[in-house]
Amino acid sequence: LQSKFPEMETTIFTVMSALAREHNAINLGQGFPDFSCDPQLLDGVEKAMRGDQNQYPPMTGIPELRNKISAKIQDLYGKYYSSDDEITVTAGATQAILTVVLATVRPGEEVVVIEPVYDSYLPAIHLAGGKAISVKMIPQRNTLGLVAKYVLPWDDLAKAINPKTRLIMINSPHNPTGMVWESEDLERLADLVRPTNALICSDEVYEHMVFDNEHHQSISRHPELCQRSFVISSFGKTFHVTGWKVGYVAAPKELMAEFRKVHQFNVFTVNTPMQYGLATYLNYPNAYKELPAFYQEKRDFFKAGLIDTRFSLLPSKGTYFQCVDYSNLRIPEAKFNEVDFCQWLTKEIKVAAIPVSAFYSSATNSNVIRFCYAKKEETLKTALNRLRTIA
Ligand code: PMP
Ligand code: GLN
Repeated sequence: LQSKFPEMETTIFTVMSALAREHNAINLGQGFPDFSCDPQLLDGVEKAMRGDQNQYPPMTGIPELRNKISAKIQDLYGKYYSSDDEITVTAGATQAILTVVLATVRPGEEVVVIEPVYDSYLPAIHLAGGKAISVKMIPQRNTLGLVAKYVLPWDDLAKAINPKTRLIMINSPHNPTGMVWESEDLERLADLVRPTNALICSDEVYEHMVFDNEHHQSISRHPELCQRSFVISSFGKTFHVTGWKVGYVAAPKELMAEFRKVHQFNVFTVNTPMQYGLATYLNYPNAYKELPAFYQEKRDFFKAGLIDTRFSLLPSKGTYFQCVDYSNLRIPEAKFNEVDFCQWLTKEIKVAAIPVSAFYSSATNSNVIRFCYAKKEETLKTALNRLRTIA
């Protein structure tokens, strides 16, 4: 067989989770919770299944769920999307992202991405035949030479965006760095896109995980930017059910019509009982309104546990990820590159993490790895005890 995509590799999340299983390591790599969702959510799904809601739902998603999504966006961000024409339920954010790219990007057209970039974006552009234009966030170093945080170089973004740009893909809160966009960032982006026809794909799957009393700056808050944007979220992330693969996209009618042209022949639609369960559960907005405090506590617990190690912590302002620079560890493995370090950590220390280099289009290494802290306290405690043995 002559492979169509000879260079396409298996996603890092699959690779590291398999390695974690093989070596019986605590998996702080792939991002998913190890605790249960609210049983009330399950009740809604069971009720739908037993109530015979098991056939194809409408192609765009059941109206009950689309109405609730519309109300949620309006409540949180003050923007009204018509549930009929401007919201579609998707098979997770992954399908929404791929469908946005396939529905908008013609072969050869330019798509701007910001690296480190979530691992499905570049393959999606590749599948569409588009040309990825990468802007790299700068790892800013402290006086010890350790990465203190990632900074977006706006000058580089300004250079990358031009009249040929078809799509700009952004993600805040950002996986893997944990950085979040502020309202001034949206203004800067608006200035850059104003002279172009560029569309925006805004991946907001961690919208309910923004900490320290900050607010998520959804693109839908911005009256100008939202006119050219697809806004994506994921119930898997929000309600601790990553395996359900249900998310959604919101966009102005004209854009949504294009999205649906592809969506109908991609998955056609998304499983019925989960949609009913989610629609019922959205009657309790506290479920997502309590998330920032819930995850901030986990972040703080994990951070506190790393204080007496020689891992150097980057800010985790949002998401459920904590990045650390390991160069300061007093062990020979501190000289390893990120991939080798993560493999060693999984095999020998029995804690799996994700190399940040996996989020780049070309070889790079900053000695920064990502831990997922969406775990029970006892899981984090055990992982921290293991991590303390190497510092
Ligand atoms: N975008 C980002 C930034 C993610 O971290 C993830 C993974 N959770 C996704 C998209 C995919 O989300 P889903 O599981 O809903 O497909
Ligand atoms: N988004 C999750 C992460 O960043 C993983 C999702 C996946 O495995 N595709 O860890």
